[in-house]
Amino acid sequence: MKILPGEGTYKKGGEMLTDKIAVVTGANKGIGFEICRQLAQKEVKVILTARNEERGNKAKEKLQNEGLNVVFYQMDVTSEESVQQAADYVMENFGKLDILVNNAGIGVDHDNPGLQANIDRIKEILDTNTFGPLRVCKAFTPIMIKSNHGRIINVSSGLGALSNMGSGASGYRISKAALNAVTRIIASELEDTHIVVNSMAPGWTRTDMGGPKARRSVEEGADTVVWLAVTDNLPTGRFFQDREEIKW
Ligand code: NAP
Repeated sequence: MKILPGEGTYKKGGEMLTDKIAVVTGANKGIGFEICRQLAQKEVKVILTARNEERGNKAKEKLQNEGLNVVFYQMDVTSEESVQQAADYVMENFGKLDILVNNAGIGVDHDNPGLQANIDRIKEILDTNTFGPLRVCKAFTPIMIKSNHGRIINVSSGLGALSNMGSGASGYRISKAALNAVTRIIASELEDTHIVVNSMAPGWTRTDMGGPKARRSVEEGADTVVWLAVTDNLPTGRFFQDREEIKW
């Protein structure tokens, strides 16, 4: 993978290294796990994070057994303290961050239509799917700002597209539409930097969330995230699916 001047080097204990560093949230399974695999296959050093230490470590070991450069760090995106600890760990141990993938997510509340909405349930979904990425961006972006470069990819959903908004799954839909707003806000606040911030929709993917009948494999679900993470000259503050821009 091409390392741009000033992008790919960092020092730890006097050692010069050229790896790109990535953090992926909610990566013990599903699309997040596959994102870690594909990034590591591109010579990126991946910090696989998950809220559960045992599940996270098992996932890390699986990728290490494939010969991939992956470490684990515990991070629950609903806890500001946990997120800040993870950011401090990255700063202290790697001194930089090239790629941040906000993948962790819960839902889909198909049995929660808007007109009969259980608001507490919606708040719970927002706490993970919207405020989670916001917490993570708040804590990790200062590391990117130090080197004035980086990629932030927010894993959103077609169900969060206002241009195609429908009924049901009100908490999930609201959380992903609001996540897209987070993308726009942060991209706008970082427009004078070389930090590129985008949302993407993986499409209906066969995971615990998507279920066995979903049309896409995890490889397909992860593909656009990895493309957004490593491709040069991308725009910022946009929404993508299948490597193409889509409507909000
Ligand atoms: P998944 O298999 O259910 O995986 C979700 C991951 O998020 C799990 O690792 C889960 O950890 C983690 N997570 C949940 N709450 C967390 C928290 N508070 N802190 C840290 N991690 C947390 O789902 P997936 O299909 O791979 O979904 C990944 C992303 O793609 C989500 O943002 C989802 O909304 C989005 N997406 C999925 C589809 C689809 O069809 N699958 C379609 C569109 C968008 P645990 O194992 O501990 O629960």
